[in-house]
Amino acid sequence: MATTQVIIVGGGFSGTALAIHLARTSSSRLLITVVEPRASLGGGVAYSTQEPAHRINVPASRMQLSGEEQGAFDRWYRQQPECSLDSVAHCDDGSVYPQRSLFGRYLAEQFAGAAQAYPHITLRHVQASAVAWEGEQLLLSNGETLQGDVLALAISHPPPSLPRALQPFSAHPALIANPWQHGVLDAIVPESSVAIIGTGLSMADVVASLGTRQHRGPLIAFSRRGQLSRDNLSGEWPEWTLAPQDVSSARQWLQHIRAEVVRAAEHNLPWQRVLDQVRVQGQAIWQSLPLREQQRFVRHLRSWWDVHRYRIAPQVSAVINARRQQGNLKVLAARLSEISDLGNQLQITLRTRDGASEAHRLDHLIVTTGPGHEALTASQPLLQSLSQQGLIRADRLGFGIDVDSQSHTLNLSGQPNARLFVVGPAARARFGELMGLPQVADHAADVAKHILQELQIAHAERCPPSAL
Ligand SMILES: Cc1cc2nc3c(=O)[nH]c(=O)nc-3n(C[C@H](O)[C@H](O)[C@H](O)COP(=O)(O)OP(=O)(O)OC[C@H]3O[C@@H](n4cnc5c(N)ncnc54)[C@H](O)[C@@H]3O)c2cc1C
Repeated sequence: MATTQVIIVGGGFSGTALAIHLARTSSSRLLITVVEPRASLGGGVAYSTQEPAHRINVPASRMQLSGEEQGAFDRWYRQQPECSLDSVAHCDDGSVYPQRSLFGRYLAEQFAGAAQAYPHITLRHVQASAVAWEGEQLLLSNGETLQGDVLALAISHPPPSLPRALQPFSAHPALIANPWQHGVLDAIVPESSVAIIGTGLSMADVVASLGTRQHRGPLIAFSRRGQLSRDNLSGEWPEWTLAPQDVSSARQWLQHIRAEVVRAAEHNLPWQRVLDQVRVQGQAIWQSLPLREQQRFVRHLRSWWDVHRYRIAPQVSAVINARRQQGNLKVLAARLSEISDLGNQLQITLRTRDGASEAHRLDHLIVTTGPGHEALTASQPLLQSLSQQGLIRADRLGFGIDVDSQSHTLNLSGQPNARLFVVGPAARARFGELMGLPQVADHAADVAKHILQELQIAHAERCPPSAL
């Protein structure tokens, strides 16, 4: 009997977690192929960084492959030599915030462990990019072709999209369009003047990286609202229970959450505990909102949600606060109104929210507007190929790929494809809160379950292999 094959495109957290969950839960023989150009699995965009200043943004005890394994990464980390060598990782409350690459290494080990543990499962990594879908086959950059019973797309984070005003300067030596590119910040010398577009988590990463390069020149970070990611809470705090509420609009949710923050404060609980509960219920809240309200949320509230929900590690926060106190990091609510080419430098004019203008001469302008999810389906050849054949379509919120409630992709006319899945943040228009762990971990486990259900049905119906 031929072995059933699942192909996973992308071996970041989502693809690696899906492979491990499939291996753990399949009772039948299964060949699981993860196609990923990076040398090791698990890293993806978030955890393959080698920058020592890039840390996970929640304590290690909250990073895991599934809800049942709470604390597994924390225990693993405390046995690694890095735990005692990296004193900065340790907080006064006993929590640890390891460098992000350590979580990537942990995942690669978990994948290798799963490959050994289940004799009926073959887990393999093909180090290549998937470049097209043609004639029921996946074409790879190394010339190989793959055929499978199920294809799962685990390709969440494209590089940041270049803001329109910067497009004419895309090749300018002062512009750093993708700060995730390995080594791209190495050219920045300590005295250089730098501006960063974006004030969220990617900006925090860049400021931390500049710190390790002893940068002390003038530094500006700006975004439309100038909001910085908030700090994580330290210490043990009781959980907060959200008062039940029959709420059907984004505005009512905002009012309800604000009232809950006030109520929590009366019980001496910080707002973070309220937001943590909103996050736990985030998928249910999101799915209860009609599309119009989801669009309102994206337009008016998303940037507020992001800075409160995606908080930063205390070590990174300390670097940002120190630079602000020293006066050589200025954070502005401003938009770029003019830009001009000065040879190796760029001159920008910023218009602040109160109408003032300020001009800056820059050695480097760094784009940290976050992954360009709104352009995901056009961001690379494989997704273009699937889109052109009408097999996938962008969702209506600009978050990624349109899927149904079981994470099957929807084709151009909105029909689900039982053999083509999306796992991870690219599916979040459907599910809502699906970016950080543990929601992405739970999603990977759910998709594994749906794939196995689908394969059992397929065998009962004698579906031909690779009929996507
Ligand atoms: C910079 C950053 C830091 C984060 N830090 C944290 C944190 O500290 N804590 C937390 O809880 N969450 C964090 N998150 C969020 C969360 O962990 C990520 O959303 C999660 O890791 C998503 O992983 P992924 O595998 O879906 O996507 P990605 O990391 O984008 O991985 C996708 C992979 O697919 C591969 N790929 C893409 N196209 C192809 C192709 N055509 N063929 C083959 N392979 C392909 C890429 O090489 C990549 O490795 C962070 C996210 C980012 C972006």
